[in-house]
Amino acid sequence: MEEIPVKVAVRIRPLLCKEALHNHQVCVRVIPNSQQVIIGRDRVFTFDFVFGKNSTQDEVYNTCIKPLVLSLIEGYNATVFAYGQTGSGKTYTIGGGHIASVVEGQKGIIPRAIQEIFQSISEHPSIDFNVKVSYIEVYKEDLRDLLELETSMKDLHIREDEKGNTVIVGAKECHVESAGEVMSLLEMGNAARHTGTTQMNEHSSRSHAIFTISICQVHKNMEAAEDGSWYSPRHIVSKFHFVDLAGSERVTKTGNTGERFKESIQINSGLLALGNVISALGDPRRKSSHIPYRDAKITRLLKDSLGGSAKTVMITCVSPSSSNFDESLNSLKYANRARNIRNKPTVNFSPESDRIDEMEFEIKLLREALQSQQAGVSQTTQINREGSPDTNRIHSLEEQVAQLQGECLGYQCCVEEAFTFLVDLKDTVRLNEKQQHKLQEWFNMIQEVRKAVLTSFRGIGGTASLEEGPQHVTVLQLKRELKKCQCVLAADEVVFNQKELEVKELKNQVQMMVQENKGHAVSLKEAQKVNRLQN
Ligand code: ADP
Ligand code: MG
Repeated sequence: MEEIPVKVAVRIRPLLCKEALHNHQVCVRVIPNSQQVIIGRDRVFTFDFVFGKNSTQDEVYNTCIKPLVLSLIEGYNATVFAYGQTGSGKTYTIGGGHIASVVEGQKGIIPRAIQEIFQSISEHPSIDFNVKVSYIEVYKEDLRDLLELETSMKDLHIREDEKGNTVIVGAKECHVESAGEVMSLLEMGNAARHTGTTQMNEHSSRSHAIFTISICQVHKNMEAAEDGSWYSPRHIVSKFHFVDLAGSERVTKTGNTGERFKESIQINSGLLALGNVISALGDPRRKSSHIPYRDAKITRLLKDSLGGSAKTVMITCVSPSSSNFDESLNSLKYANRARNIRNKPTVNFSPESDRIDEMEFEIKLLREALQSQQAGVSQTTQINREGSPDTNRIHSLEEQVAQLQGECLGYQCCVEEAFTFLVDLKDTVRLNEKQQHKLQEWFNMIQEVRKAVLTSFRGIGGTASLEEGPQHVTVLQLKRELKKCQCVLAADEVVFNQKELEVKELKNQVQMMVQENKGHAVSLKEAQKVNRLQN
């Protein structure tokens, strides 16, 4: 699985009218023709994308978000989140404000992405798309469903699915058919979002908002392949999270008191947790594998986007005003750290089709195993019939035995003849002492050999006569060897029988899986039919 870093963009907004009126100095600039920003006199940071005060919404969208939308259609999860101080331009960039009142060119990321998603859907007539949206905010560490305000926060829970992706159980998911429908839901959610006026921002977002579009794609043409195997339609479910974080703020600067003050504390603690997660993930010297995702709701929700399987873009918004120097420097430092975070994006096939794919793969493996086993068995039975190494050896040994037996018989006859001849000769011929001694030695030697043969026969329980001696020793030895070989052969046969049984079992399994597969195909077809009818 390929690792790709979280892409980090920095956007510097222009000085606001009131800032210009108060003669605020600009302390952050983009270095022309580079991916760098300079803050103060000499602090330079490099990012994947940098956008200066004159950058347009279109430019930001096309450079960093369009590729994410294309990945979403390919089946990857995607996240864009805006980070930065209150009033630095997060909501403006993400496009989560009152969209209806915004002129076309000023529209932010969400409306543009929605447009593009539906454009892409219309360009893929062979795919069934099912689009759903949800909109959640995290306000003072509680979840709120912005599309269903009646839903009690107690009914919303953050859970992890079997793949480790974060899901919000209990959140309303609205099925949508057009970009217009999504826009009105977005507008409705934005209106319900907690905002308030602070000294820093007239419409300060007091919560973290996560707008999610999820797309389920099913390829319509379900065909049988030429080789007879069956292709399941591909189900891909992918999600795009648009995250507009509440601004990091200094309580002294915002002048917050009372409820606003409490909000600030919660906002800052959530952002602190986020900062810790970014630090832990982005620190190349990090030794422990623990990432403190569980410290806050927002970090739990962004788990998949930071260090998970989504493609993520972080847009850090900074104010150019020197009165915000410290916050801007902090934001740039965090953004710089986030560049070290690595995600492992994967295409999200839905569980059902995952299962079918797995089964198809298993069947393929079983088929291969079966084929190779069958080939192996037929080869070995052939060898057995034609002559395995063992039987060949037995044949050659038998031939040797016959040859040796023949030779032995010849020698025996010679020796016997010589024996009787010499016995006669001994009585008729006068031999000198030396000759007599030598002849006696020969007789003794023959006697010794006969005795040795006899005892060795008795030792192995032989009942053969002394005359058959030496040949029978060889024959018996060879017979023993033959027996050993037969034992080996019998063991081999046991293995072959076992293998044949295994092959049979595998065949049964394959058949069962094919049946199961067929069942799945039928239910899938039915589900598709029902789906189409419902649509
Ligand atoms: P945040 O969400 O970070 O608190 P906002 O997005 O609400 O900040 O922006 C604060 C103000 O700055 C708004 O009035 C917004 O219109 C303005 N603003 C932010 N970014 C830009 C920009 N790139 N160009 C023009 N105006 C901007
Ligand atoms: Mg905002």
